[in-house]
Amino acid sequence: MYHPSIYDDTQPVPSYWEATDTRGGNGYQPLLSDVACDVAIIGGGYTGLSAALHLARDYDIDVRVLEAGHIGWGASGRNGGFCCLPASRLSIQQLIQRYGLDATKRFFAIQLEGMDLVASLAADENIDLDRQGDGNFTVAHHPSRFQALQEEAQALSSLFGIKTRVLTRSEFIEVGHDSTEQYGAMHMAAGFALNPLKFLKGLAAATARRGARLHPHSRVLEWVHAGGVHRLVTREATLTAHRVIVATNGFTREGLHQAFDKMMLPALSNIITTRPLTDEELERQKWHTSTPICNTRNLLFYYRMLPDRSFMFGTRGDTTGHPKDGARMRDWMIRRLAEVFPGWRDVPITHFWRGLVCMTRKLTPSVGQLDDDASVWYGFGYQANGVNTAPWAGMMLARHIAEPNKYVEPFPSVIHGLAPKFPFAAIRRWALRAAYTYYRIQDAR
Ligand SMILES: Cc1cc2nc3c(=O)[nH]c(=O)nc-3n(C[C@H](O)[C@H](O)[C@H](O)COP(=O)(O)OP(=O)(O)OC[C@H]3O[C@@H](n4cnc5c(N)ncnc54)[C@H](O)[C@@H]3O)c2cc1C
Repeated sequence: MYHPSIYDDTQPVPSYWEATDTRGGNGYQPLLSDVACDVAIIGGGYTGLSAALHLARDYDIDVRVLEAGHIGWGASGRNGGFCCLPASRLSIQQLIQRYGLDATKRFFAIQLEGMDLVASLAADENIDLDRQGDGNFTVAHHPSRFQALQEEAQALSSLFGIKTRVLTRSEFIEVGHDSTEQYGAMHMAAGFALNPLKFLKGLAAATARRGARLHPHSRVLEWVHAGGVHRLVTREATLTAHRVIVATNGFTREGLHQAFDKMMLPALSNIITTRPLTDEELERQKWHTSTPICNTRNLLFYYRMLPDRSFMFGTRGDTTGHPKDGARMRDWMIRRLAEVFPGWRDVPITHFWRGLVCMTRKLTPSVGQLDDDASVWYGFGYQANGVNTAPWAGMMLARHIAEPNKYVEPFPSVIHGLAPKFPFAAIRRWALRAAYTYYRIQDAR
């Protein structure tokens, strides 16, 4: 769907995370000779690695991961590091209308489980993920959004038991920050911030330590299912497996498997970071927090202060992926950062990068097993909220595969099953552009 540069997995993206990573190479080898295993996983992000870790560690299953780029090339190694919720573009009311209250409660519960899972993986597998902050803030970007925040806070606590606190503009200046788009905030006592690449690399190391084989630079080019086995053909060799998990999310290409064609709407998310800020610069915006922050825009700004006090600022946008549009996006973000945080107008920007998040037509994740081929499993469509949801999905896929008699219930209904296909797949990008225009008008009101 996008310019080929977006899919160029031969190079790491120029992210702050890659630039500050000190772990270096990891010794994983591409698939170089034909081999067989029980479960093959396509995609080495949080979904694929978590599935592989749980299959190998908890069930001693012979599992291999095929990753097109280096391990950590996808969204999991370059995201904003917000361990937050929800993984849906539907409002709480819309979720309840569509799935019912109990299912919506279960949907929020699994995301809290996902946050706990990230924390417990870090503890159990000795992953240093630079955990920061306490919960998540949502900031009203306009006075008209404050009331909706109060209502959301009320719904989150009364329906899902999540502790929330609403702060007026002046209260938030005391604990959070000042800005031209700060009209009060909600604190949600769930989640935290992390270094996504450290989490990814730690997860990969744990997965390999527990016996799974990871193969970077091993894009699946062809997939044949015949005679009861799957043959996954890469450039150098073929992996044969009884079962396959598709964990390719926003980087899935059409033609990998017909079941997933026209199913995903990948969207570009973009991030810039500044150089580390001085005490005096922090004071200019009354900055006090390491807790991650989103605002109430539909095309939201997400931002956080990193451990070395570099400021990270992200947003959705650009519907071509062309490098020229990327450069425009970067300039636009620098301008918007200066408008929202005028005290940092002159602070140099050190990094700009982007990647694909994955939306679906049902606007919630898709996790499950193909109806017409019980040997194919999948987890994708986290609606840009995969730091907690993707590892949870990977873990649950592993459990369902390894213990079918115990995990007889289908996945929770909000996330269960494939989404409807897009009717006009070729114009998905234009539909996205139209949606962005609509959102911009809404956000400006
Ligand atoms: C810029 C950005 C910021 C984000 N910020 C946040 C955030 O702050 N919080 C949050 O919760 N979520 C965030 N997200 C979303 C989050 O990163 C994703 O939801 C999550 O990482 C998805 O994990 P995954 O393992 O399913 O997919 P990915 O990590 O994208 O992994 C999929 C992998 O599949 C590989 N692949 C594709 N096709 C093939 C093939 N044919 N053969 C082999 N391998 C293949 C790709 O190379 C890729 O590495 C952000 C995403 C982006 C891009």
